[in-house]
Amino acid sequence: MITVSEVQRRMRELYGHRDSRRGPERTLLWLISEVGEVADAVVKNRSGGIEEEMADVLAWLASLANVLDIDLERAFSSKYGDGCPRCASKPCNCPEG
Ligand SMILES: [Mg+2]
Ligand SMILES: [Zn+2]
Repeated sequence: MITVSEVQRRMRELYGHRDSRRGPERTLLWLISEVGEVADAVVKNRSGGIEEEMADVLAWLASLANVLDIDLERAFSSKYGDGCPRCASKPCNCPEG
């Protein structure tokens, strides 16, 4: 098992030097392109490919968070840690819209 914080730390140790040189805008473009690869794998129903592309999305999201100095685990916990951010229930009880 690997935590969100460990994902972010791993990406920093592997690619932090390149990520900071690349900067947030170009790192965001890489993230978006990896999301496109997930979409492609889902549409083509390549199940092995979906897993791999999802790993890439998580990796690039972590890189973007590193460049922007955002703690993803803290951000996620503070928004979703106690239940649905709108209705505060687990599972969400919001009307479906
Ligand atoms: Mg990919
Ligand atoms: Zn809700």
